[in-house]
Amino acid sequence: MSYDEFLTAIKELGLERYRADQVLDWVYKKHVFVFEKMTNLSKEHRNMLTEKFSIDLPEIVEKRVSSLDKTTKYLYKLQDGNTIESVLLFHEGYATACISTQVGCPVKCSFCATGQSGFVRNLSTGEIVSQILAIEKDSNQTIRNIVYMGMGEPLLNYDNVLKSVRILIHEKTKNVGIRRITISTVGIPEKILKLSDEGLDLNLAISLHASTDEKRDQIIPMNKRYSIEEVLHAARIYQEKSDRRVTIEYILIREFNDFDEDARRLAKLLKGMKVFVNLIPINPVVSNMERPTQWKINRFKEILIESGVEAEIRYEKGADIEAACGQLRIRNLQR
Ligand code: SAH
Ligand code: SF4
Repeated sequence: MSYDEFLTAIKELGLERYRADQVLDWVYKKHVFVFEKMTNLSKEHRNMLTEKFSIDLPEIVEKRVSSLDKTTKYLYKLQDGNTIESVLLFHEGYATACISTQVGCPVKCSFCATGQSGFVRNLSTGEIVSQILAIEKDSNQTIRNIVYMGMGEPLLNYDNVLKSVRILIHEKTKNVGIRRITISTVGIPEKILKLSDEGLDLNLAISLHASTDEKRDQIIPMNKRYSIEEVLHAARIYQEKSDRRVTIEYILIREFNDFDEDARRLAKLLKGMKVFVNLIPINPVVSNMERPTQWKINRFKEILIESGVEAEIRYEKGADIEAACGQLRIRNLQR
């Protein structure tokens, strides 16, 4: 529920406005998820709330903590038995949550474990928000950054994703700074344009992964519908309206998209855009796609930088715990 919806419901129960704030304080700050234990409310009020509302958190079915960098990966079971993943990672010292938006993903990118597992359904707003609460409760960490980079394509579950963002930034709930939220998308032009009109200056990351349509078609089926040019056009508009630098994600796959020519073409495509390129050495989940050598990865970055495009290599976190999106779930499904 959004703050306003909750407030209306509380008023309908005949309770004062500040009761809503008290409940939200228990939920979002103290991580108490049963009304029974909300001790600053009367017994009568607690009973009323228990009858009217439920606070459902996903159940942790598997948890893996990386011995390398404390990255923690959770496999959650939802009420209907479906499973999703969330990851807690530490970025520049801050606790960051990587959350899912769908069970599986309909986009079916060939390099992606989630994409290969098929699509089941969208997550509800509550299922998106509760991933954050479940991580905080289990880890005792306060999440400062949120990235919508887990399973699923956020812009194909647009309404629930946007509602979850609005809930998470509300000062009475999680109160996360909008600039600490990132949505990563495969790039759906009309949805990016819609997002640019929401007045939410969140960070947008575009999963480009190729410098020509011919190559992008091979790994992202959706590219046949929306070309690189259309995707980048929408990204450019988002960048201008939000005045935020857009992130371009580029997975490096050995002898597929790691050639000098690719780096030069990519730089050309991004010319004049305020962007930052994240180069991600692929986390191999299918046999025919491997990481380039370190030399090749560094060289790709150097070419971009020499061409005036800011770029960084994003080394994976939690390499020892199958932290690539969708890996844990797939293994669990196969059991
Ligand atoms: N659907 C959205 C967000 C979820 S995927 C999107 O595609 O952007 C989050 C990021 O993980 C994307 O950039 C995606 O391309 C990347 N990714 C997926 N599989 C990967 C793999 N095997 N190795 C490295 N990155 C991967
Ligand atoms: Fe879906 Fe993103 Fe995976 Fe592509 S990379 S299949 S869009 S989750």
